[in-house]
Amino acid sequence: MYQIKTVAVLTSGGDAPGMNAALRAVTRAAIYNGMRVMAVMKGYKGLVTNDIVEFKTQNVSNIIHHGGTIIKTARCKEFTTPEGRQMAYDNLKRHNVDALVVLGGDGTFTGAKIFAQEFNFPVVGVPCTIDNDLYGTDYTIGYDTALNTVIEAVDKIRDTASSHERLFFVEVMGRDAGFLALNAAIASGAEAAVIPEVRLKDDMLAEVIQNGFRKTKNSSIVLVAESEVTGGAEGVAARVKAEHPEYDARVVVLGHIQRGGSPSAQDRILASRMGAAAIDALLEEQRNLMVGVVNDEIVYVPFSKAIKDDKPINMKLIATLRALSI
Ligand code: ATP
Repeated sequence: MYQIKTVAVLTSGGDAPGMNAALRAVTRAAIYNGMRVMAVMKGYKGLVTNDIVEFKTQNVSNIIHHGGTIIKTARCKEFTTPEGRQMAYDNLKRHNVDALVVLGGDGTFTGAKIFAQEFNFPVVGVPCTIDNDLYGTDYTIGYDTALNTVIEAVDKIRDTASSHERLFFVEVMGRDAGFLALNAAIASGAEAAVIPEVRLKDDMLAEVIQNGFRKTKNSSIVLVAESEVTGGAEGVAARVKAEHPEYDARVVVLGHIQRGGSPSAQDRILASRMGAAAIDALLEEQRNLMVGVVNDEIVYVPFSKAIKDDKPINMKLIATLRALSI
């Protein structure tokens, strides 16, 4: 049996609220199961540069409620090269690390998969991204908090939109996925969502324009997922202005505020469960997979599936939004 005595953990790619809660869970579950924990600073960069320190239970005290990541995150070009990954492997060996847990998104797991195969090294991933765009898990850590941040912002925009009788296009993150935009549209009572999963000619914008946004309401809010397909809020606003120069249309790009803040209860629970499950997976001699949650149960998804397959969005949500925004 391959016994794991020392596990390393890192956070990589874009930060997401709940990463700290997941780091805490990985650290505590590992120590609870008799393992030593090494924290790698700044994602794969710390692996390549040997920025690695031992973590005890106290190192993760008082962090469950903080956004961001106390061990920092970074994008690391060196790790995309065989030479960089060799340095990473040598540094893990230097610290007698037997397995690696990576907290991140799509790119992080792509790197993890390559590394795991190259060196036959056990790696387990915990999905942390506000985009919720990873196949094989109903939710990713950070998504729920970001959703709440978006609706709080849209509630405020609505006050000014209705006072001035304006049409607002609010751009939210999502990196080519419409989960945030569509669900935030439903939760904030927006008129429409423009998301990359729906072909442009069928999107809800055409309807909003056709119906005339002022027919029944004196203001409108449309949520737009950032993406080359949608053209972002600026692109959508330009389409509308071209047809209806009389509309008083404004654009708001919510940007990085969506990444920050204290994680919601949902995200803290998800992070705690997934972080502990990552250690369970290693104890069960599972490797090269992402921990997920489906129908409220923990599942293991091979990296190859999590990064390759597109996560489908529930199109019935569009019908719900359409029905409720009349
Ligand atoms: P987010 O979804 O928030 O952007 P992410 O994990 O997808 O998070 P990326 O910046 O895409 O973030 O990837 C994080 C890191 O993973 C990269 O900086 C790089 O070091 C590593 N990585 C990404 N793709 C590869 C690859 N093809 N080969 C090796 N390493 C990679």
